[in-house]
Amino acid sequence: MELISKEQAVLKMSPNNTPVKKVESGSTVVFETFDCFSNLIQQEDQPFSSVGWDKINPATGPLYIDGAIRGDTLKVEIVDIEIDNKGVMTTAPKLGVLGDIVTGETTKIIPIQDGKAIFNDKIHIPIKPMIGVIGTSPETEEIPTGTPGSHGGNMDCKKIIKGSTLYLPVNVPGALLSMGDLHAVMADGEIVICGLEIPGKVRVKVSVIKNNSLPLPMLQSEDKLITIASAKDLDEAAKLATIQMHTFLVENMGLEIDEAGMLLSLVGELRICQVVDPLMTARMEFPQSIVDQYEYKLP
Ligand code: CA
Ligand code: CA
Repeated sequence: MELISKEQAVLKMSPNNTPVKKVESGSTVVFETFDCFSNLIQQEDQPFSSVGWDKINPATGPLYIDGAIRGDTLKVEIVDIEIDNKGVMTTAPKLGVLGDIVTGETTKIIPIQDGKAIFNDKIHIPIKPMIGVIGTSPETEEIPTGTPGSHGGNMDCKKIIKGSTLYLPVNVPGALLSMGDLHAVMADGEIVICGLEIPGKVRVKVSVIKNNSLPLPMLQSEDKLITIASAKDLDEAAKLATIQMHTFLVENMGLEIDEAGMLLSLVGELRICQVVDPLMTARMEFPQSIVDQYEYKLP
């Protein structure tokens, strides 16, 4: 079993990163990940500001996948997500949606027991582990791991879970896949800038797809097919995610332009991923059952 240890991490997704491992298409690889604070917060007397910005959002990798060239698509099947037995949350002034209301810094260590996050004596929240940061290298740019984009990155999409399949663009030879920022659980919005941040291990199967025309990033998760888009504001991100799904319905599934729009207006769920990163992220969820009715098969 190929394993990449958490110490082999980057803070930018970049064509200049040196691959830490090379595998063939179709391989299964385990990425061990730090939490988004590089595991530096272990106690409730350690505030967010005790962690430097140069330690935030490390992404394990990058992994080089043999045969991947620019224009291909990388298929990443999330085989398993294993998490630690405790996570951490922080709040601080000026951060997130409530940044003007929060006056002090607070850190909360939250144990995980029997599949639940023990928020306090009364509130035990079922966990649903997800990957916050996962992406490939941009073609020429260096994009910080805290920023989302068409390459993936810090999308904070709570649907990237065990059993889901994420399709990412290949912009450079080998694709250079990295990931980190696991959350034991997170709600759409991620309003105080963190989910339940936690270290762990992600087992993925990576495959190179040639001549593929999916709008990317695209996700198949549970009973939904999902387009994900990021932009300066939420309006633009929502519009982009919608257009990407519409394009898929027309170009890949063969629907008429107007009919595809009507269908999206009836069964396409437009949702927020997050509103707290340098770009905002939205997603459009479309029922997999309808994709199946059209007998369209994802590559
Ligand atoms: Ca994140
Ligand atoms: Ca996070």
